[in-house]
Amino acid sequence: MTLLLTGTGISPGIAMGKAHVLRRGRPDVLEYAIPRQHLDDEVARFQRALTTVTRQLREIQRHIPSDAPRDVAGFIDAHLLMLKDHLLAEDTISLIRERQCNAEWALKLQQDSIVSVFDAMEDAYLRTRRDDVAHVIERLQRTLLEDEGAAPAQRELRGRLVVADDLSPADMVLLQHAQIAGFVTDAGGPLSHTAIMARGLGIPAVVGTRAASTLLRDDEPLVIDGDTGMVLAGADARLRRHFRQRQKTAREHTRALQALTDTPACTRDGQAVQLMANVELAEDLRALRHSGADGVGLYRTEYLFLNRSTPPDEEEQLRHYRKLLNASQGRPVTIRTVDLGADKLAVDTVTAALNPALGLRAIRRSLQEPEVFMTQLRAILRASHLGPVRIMLPMLTTPAELEQALELIERARQRLRRERKRFDPEMPIGGMIETPAAALLCEHFARQLDFLSIGTNDLIQYTLAIDRLDESVTYLYDPLHPAVLRLIRMIIDAGARQATPVAMCGEMAGDPQLTRLLLGLGLTEFSVRPNMLGEIKHRILETDLGALHPIIDELDSVYTEEVMTRLLQRLNNL
Ligand code: PEP
Ligand code: MG
Repeated sequence: MTLLLTGTGISPGIAMGKAHVLRRGRPDVLEYAIPRQHLDDEVARFQRALTTVTRQLREIQRHIPSDAPRDVAGFIDAHLLMLKDHLLAEDTISLIRERQCNAEWALKLQQDSIVSVFDAMEDAYLRTRRDDVAHVIERLQRTLLEDEGAAPAQRELRGRLVVADDLSPADMVLLQHAQIAGFVTDAGGPLSHTAIMARGLGIPAVVGTRAASTLLRDDEPLVIDGDTGMVLAGADARLRRHFRQRQKTAREHTRALQALTDTPACTRDGQAVQLMANVELAEDLRALRHSGADGVGLYRTEYLFLNRSTPPDEEEQLRHYRKLLNASQGRPVTIRTVDLGADKLAVDTVTAALNPALGLRAIRRSLQEPEVFMTQLRAILRASHLGPVRIMLPMLTTPAELEQALELIERARQRLRRERKRFDPEMPIGGMIETPAAALLCEHFARQLDFLSIGTNDLIQYTLAIDRLDESVTYLYDPLHPAVLRLIRMIIDAGARQATPVAMCGEMAGDPQLTRLLLGLGLTEFSVRPNMLGEIKHRILETDLGALHPIIDELDSVYTEEVMTRLLQRLNNL
C-alpha cells in the first residue's frame, strides 16, 4: 500500500531511497566500528563524558532550591552514584574494547542488559529505578554526541532520506556532511535557513507535513518530491518508474543550462546584468568554481559559528575568507558579518529569545558583542589585502546602528595599522536592506554606503508580519504582495538616485518566475545560489527589457493577488 503525505516542497527535485527517522525524544544512537588503534581514544572520550556529566549533575545539585522536596536531591545523588558504578563505568569500557564499537552504542547495550535485570525484580519501587538508569545513560549519550571528537555516523546516513520533526541549520550542516539524499520534516517553512541551505545543496526536501516523523518508519522506501511537496512511502513499481524518469529529465535540463556557463548575462536589448552567487558552505565553494558567477554577492558567515562552543578566532576566519577568494578566482566577494540569532544559534546559546525573529540577531547582536564583532571585522579587513573583498552589514534598521558599525570598522582599521597588518583602505562597505524601516530610509543608507543588497527573505517576513519559520503562516508568504514590490522598487530607485549599486540576494532573486519582474523594476545585480545561476541567466538572455516597461508601469495600480498574478503571466509570456 502506498502512503501519501503532503507538505511544502522547499527544495526541488526527486529523491528516492530508504527512510532514516531521527527520533529527537531520545538521542539517535547508531553503531559504528572503532579501529583497534583508536580504541584508547574512544575510551578516553567515554571517560570525558563521565566527567562532564558528573560536573553537570553537581551543578544541578547546587541549584536545587532549599525548599525542594528531599527526594529531588536524593535522585541526583542516586544518579551521581550510578556514574561511579562499575556496571556503568568499567563494564561499558570493557564493551567498547570487546566489540570495538563506539561508546554510545556500548552504553545502549549496557542499558539493555541492566534494564532486563530491573524488569525481573519483584519489587515495584526498584523496577521504577530502571528509569533512572535510562536517564543517566541518555545524558551520557547526549554528551558523547555533542563531543567534538565523536565520529559522525556518516556511513549510516549516506544516500538516506532523513525524516525528522524539525531540522535546524546546525543539523543541516551535519547532515550534508553525511551526504543524505533528501529530507522530510513535520514543521518548517520555505524561508527557513534550513530550506535555503537545502536548495543551495540541491537536496530535495518537503517540510510542514505535520506527521511524517510519526507515520514513517526506519528503512521504509520513500520518494520525496520537492517540486510538489509530496512524500510517498511504499510506492509501487509503476510510480517508481515515473519518478526515475523525472529525475532523468531534470538531469538533462541541468546539463543543457551548463552550456551557458561562459555566456555573459545580458538582455536581448543589451542591458548587462551582474549574476553573483550566494555561498555558505564548503560545498558551495566547489560549485562556485564552475558556476560562471561574476563573484559572490552574499557569503553567510554564520555557518562558521555553528555547532561549536566558541566563535572562530581571527586566523581561522581569515583562512576561510582566503579559501573563498581562491574559489572566486579574482572576482569580488561580499562577506556578510555574522547574522546569528533567529534560527541560526551557536551551541552556546542557552536562552532562546521570546520572539527570535524580532530579537537580538544580526547587526544588533554584533553591536552587543563588540569583541566577537571586532575579531570578524579584523579578519575581513585583512582578507581585503588578499583579493577584492566587500563587507556587508546584515539587518540594518536604524541609522545609529550603521554609525556604530562604521565606527567599529574604523577602529579595526586603526588597530591593524598600528600592528602593521595590511588591508585595503578602500574596501567597499555595504548594507542589507531587509527591514521595512531600512527600506523607507534607504535614501540615507544609499548615501552612507558603497552598495546595498535587498534581503527579501527578511523583508517579506517583516513587511507581511509572518514568521519565516512558522509553517502555519507559510500561505501568507508572498513575494508578489504589492507592499513588498513597492518597497523593492523604492530601494532600487533610491540606489539609482544616489548612484549606489543595488543588488538582491534573498531567495526572490533566484526564482526564475520573478526574473523579468525584477529586471523590469530596474534590478541589474542578482545574487543566487550557484545551482540556480544557469536558470536565471537563461531567463535574462531571453528577455527584451524595453517590452517589459509598459506592463511594469501598471504595477502601481495593482492591489490584489489575482491582478498581480495576471500581470506576472503577461510578463513571462512575452
Ligand atoms: C534575506 O533575508 O533575504 C537574506 C539574504 O538573509 P538571510 O536569509 O540569511 O536572513
Ligand atoms: Mg536576512
